[in-house]
Amino acid sequence: MKNLLPAGILLLVLSSCSFTPDSEKLISVDEMKRVTSVLSSDEFMGRKPFTLGENLTIAFLAQELQQIGFEPPFEGSYFQAVPMTETTSKVEGPVTIAVRGEKLSFNAPDEVAVSSPDPQENISISNSKMVFAGFGIDSPDDKWDDFKGMDLKGKTLVVLINDPGLYSSDTTLFRGKEMTIFGRWTYKFEEAARKGADAILIIHESLGAGYEFNVPRNSSISARLFIDDKGATKRCKATGWLSEASADKIFSKLGYNVKELRMAATKRDFQPFEMDAAFSVNIKNKITQNTSTNVAGIMRGTKRPDEAIVITAHWDHFGIGEIQNGDSVYNGAVDNGTTMAWAFEIGRAFSKAGKRPERSIILLFPTAEEQGLNGSEYYTEHPIVPMEKTIACLNNDMMVPRGKMNDITMIGFGYSSLDSLYEIVAKKQGRYLLPDPNSHTGLFFRSDHFPFFKKGVPSLWAFGCFDSREHGKEWAVESWDNFIKNVYHTPADNYDPNWDWSGIAEDTRMAFDVAWMLSKSNKKRPRLY
Ligand SMILES: [Zn+2]
Repeated sequence: MKNLLPAGILLLVLSSCSFTPDSEKLISVDEMKRVTSVLSSDEFMGRKPFTLGENLTIAFLAQELQQIGFEPPFEGSYFQAVPMTETTSKVEGPVTIAVRGEKLSFNAPDEVAVSSPDPQENISISNSKMVFAGFGIDSPDDKWDDFKGMDLKGKTLVVLINDPGLYSSDTTLFRGKEMTIFGRWTYKFEEAARKGADAILIIHESLGAGYEFNVPRNSSISARLFIDDKGATKRCKATGWLSEASADKIFSKLGYNVKELRMAATKRDFQPFEMDAAFSVNIKNKITQNTSTNVAGIMRGTKRPDEAIVITAHWDHFGIGEIQNGDSVYNGAVDNGTTMAWAFEIGRAFSKAGKRPERSIILLFPTAEEQGLNGSEYYTEHPIVPMEKTIACLNNDMMVPRGKMNDITMIGFGYSSLDSLYEIVAKKQGRYLLPDPNSHTGLFFRSDHFPFFKKGVPSLWAFGCFDSREHGKEWAVESWDNFIKNVYHTPADNYDPNWDWSGIAEDTRMAFDVAWMLSKSNKKRPRLY
């Protein structure tokens, strides 16, 4: 006994250091089915913020969090109120652009998709001088400045979508063909406001935008949500897009060709210029204030409870809307029911693991993701654990149950050393990491991990998507494209009891294993590249 004791203690110490739960035994597909079928039932009315559907959804999420042993983190509550402003803009009459003194009229929203993010009822812009400034990017890190000291106060900025890397053959510009944050319309709108411009118009182009003109067209006439920050965020009076044809019409009258301008703007020494054109528009805004809700639960870590790994899956969808094929409920079973089930299953695995994590685990279900990441943006400003102590954010979105996949599509590959943890788990599962093949569309900037990344938290969205184990690559790509084209954001996004969950189960184990590694108190926070 005397001799055995130290060895026994040593064994205990060793095993507690290297203890890794067998995630295969911890994941229940039946639970994932149950959670998804409830959240995407007609009773939940498409889970739209500010509706009865929201009340039902957040109550269900809170109850589930309690059941898996996650504590309420917001002063005894699972709910975080997110104050928002809802704005619906209507352009009065045509948009006019006087080019060399000649007034051209454009129909809104079909030719110029413009709206106002400014929370005022009447917006009027009259003969605001237009300036063309390439891609509208000011990035000292990239040694890139499209403005070159040009005064933009009270003016209308006209810029190109995406960034120079997409159109240049120089792969060292920005991230080559992959979109950077500077390619996103959100960045361009913010930069225009920072430079004091009254308005900004982006020239649409399908490849660079990643979608057709109908997307900004439709959103310009729909209700848009903004976080109500009492005017802290500077916004332009008007923001919008010119269709390619409208831009051609304006620039050709000035003696320019838009395609040639775009190529010229991929050069560092490109000079912005006054266009000898002036923009006028009148907009009426309908503004309402309302509060929606983020839902979260926490499992406190045993060694470093003040540090956390955050798992995110937005709860909101589009509610009840336009009837398509006899259905008006936008149930959002895949967007984002299956993903909420994924998040709960990671949480359940932590509660069944037999040992508590050393760092805290937070399950966060943000609101208003579909409206522009409002809930997650608000959370990162008002977090449970400060952003510097948030070790990582593992997000998911639109997990389509289609069986096991060989790939792990990494939306956010190359942004942090989180990649190497996924590499470890990929090997274990016999899979490979696939950088997002559609990275020019900037999906990395379009879901809830991104506000975390902006605050310096290593973050990504990772799931099997493009290489089916059973049916191969072509089938997987086709079935994904079919989902995006025919199901995504339509009433056809319904729960199907016959879905094959084996792939999502594998993705859940992967995220759990990564989160488990990150929860080790001796594991350094991944670094950003
Ligand atoms: Zn989504």
